[in-house]
Amino acid sequence: MRIVVIGHGMVGSRFAQDAASRIPDAHVTVLGREPHAPYNRVLLSSVVAGKAAADGIALDAPAHERIDVLQGVAAAAIDRERRIVTASDGSLHRYDKLVLATGSAARIPQIQHVATPDGLVAGVSVLKDLDDAQGILDALPKARRAVVLGAGVLGLEVATGLAARGIAVTLVHHAERLMERQLGSAASAVAAGSLGRLGITVITTTSVTRVLERRGRVSGVVLGTGAEVLTDMLVMCAGTIPETTLARRAGLPCERGVLVGEDLASPEDPHVCAIGDCAQPPEGGSGLVAQGWDQSTRLVDLWAGARTARPRTEDADTTNVVRVKATGLEVVTMGLSGKFEHGERELRAVRISDPAVGRFVEVVVSHGLLVGATVVGDKTTATELQALYTRMLPVPADPAHLIVRPIPGAAATRRSVADMDDDDTVCQCNGVSKGRICAAIADGCASPEDVSRATRASTGCGDCKPQVKELLEAHAASEDKAPVLTGAGEA
Ligand SMILES: Cc1cc2nc3c(=O)[nH]c(=O)nc-3n(C[C@H](O)[C@H](O)[C@H](O)COP(=O)(O)OP(=O)(O)OC[C@H]3O[C@@H](n4cnc5c(N)ncnc54)[C@H](O)[C@@H]3O)c2cc1C
Repeated sequence: MRIVVIGHGMVGSRFAQDAASRIPDAHVTVLGREPHAPYNRVLLSSVVAGKAAADGIALDAPAHERIDVLQGVAAAAIDRERRIVTASDGSLHRYDKLVLATGSAARIPQIQHVATPDGLVAGVSVLKDLDDAQGILDALPKARRAVVLGAGVLGLEVATGLAARGIAVTLVHHAERLMERQLGSAASAVAAGSLGRLGITVITTTSVTRVLERRGRVSGVVLGTGAEVLTDMLVMCAGTIPETTLARRAGLPCERGVLVGEDLASPEDPHVCAIGDCAQPPEGGSGLVAQGWDQSTRLVDLWAGARTARPRTEDADTTNVVRVKATGLEVVTMGLSGKFEHGERELRAVRISDPAVGRFVEVVVSHGLLVGATVVGDKTTATELQALYTRMLPVPADPAHLIVRPIPGAAATRRSVADMDDDDTVCQCNGVSKGRICAAIADGCASPEDVSRATRASTGCGDCKPQVKELLEAHAASEDKAPVLTGAGEA
């Protein structure tokens, strides 16, 4: 089976490795436009914030005798009739199966003078790939001020990251509320107050309409209100658009993304599949890596011999959790966060709001289960609520008990991974259960890196690293306590 994969990002690179390892007759060719080996894109905002090094976020590159990777070579055209992909270097690649894993592109809002025919004005950038991150890092030594456009998850991560580096940041957001898809007004106001304490100026309900430049570099921006903000950098975090250019040109049906069925194949052509951010499956694309990795595994399962595709991982309770990786600002939302007033279900909601210290917690309970929560500025509570939410544990009859602590004996105090069941998920990005991690540790994995290599846990956003460490420590402690058997005991 000749498989051609277009895109060498987080999903394409994993698919190539798994396909070559698990499908005995597969020969895989990967075309990757970026000149780099695959890396963890999720951590790019951590690179900008100085929490991770640009050369420290590499992912394991596919390595197998039946994989050819063409790095820095883009796919230019797909001839579906002859089943051939033409690459930017002129090479031709015949396929039996074609996998589109082209990811998504950063959305560039309509802004006057944002670009020249050669590209974005110097000092203006998005944050989508390693080159963007490197460009921002290169500009930092001479920058004192930055404007970040967009206060979604990425905008908050970039704004706080730049502020942590001593840059005076102005965060401009089109909507009235920050993260308006996740936060209600009160939570947004508390988050905005916390950003203010980090030295970030927040301007909402307007956008950037024009870029001002001096000697070929950005020197300021004009807002919709007519106000001018002087700046040395503009970072646009205005969302992403699935990369469908090639697919459209090849006549494949696309809406927001490349349309695929439950089997991840195009309804128009069974030889072409799409996975990751570029795909639009029946349940919709989440733009999160867990969904793409799940699709990759399902496609390999299918081609490796399983008669039907494994059902997709039920994502309602996991990819529905949004955790902002911001420096100095904790924001976590899950389920019916910020939107429960419009819900039709029987809901009880309780909140505490303490803007003076930047804390806001709201829980939404229905039929004895936590169905939504918003947490700003309280990491411990966020972790506990996330566990209750994703594991669908019963909650106390009075929802107030979920946010007022300590509550000895109540479910909300179950904060340790030791309390989790073996089939509970520890790594949400990769869908790795506690049982699999414990089995890997029992099989000899002695460090977090060993566990990652054996199970892939912690290779996504890295949120589960503390839990993996806790399981390793618990295992080591139990080994220490185990009686040493000698002599007759050994026999
Ligand atoms: C800064 C940032 C932070 C993020 N944070 C999170 C997070 O906290 N949690 C989370 O779950 N997700 C997060 N994401 C999203 C996550 O990175 C994506 O879901 C994931 O990368 C999707 O993988 P993919 O392989 O589909 O696309 P990508 O990783 O984007 O890879 C697509 C690759 O295809 C290449 N390509 C495109 N067209 C062609 C062509 N014609 N020929 C050859 N190659 C081509 C691109 O250059 C790219 O290398 C974040 C993304 C960014 C940018």
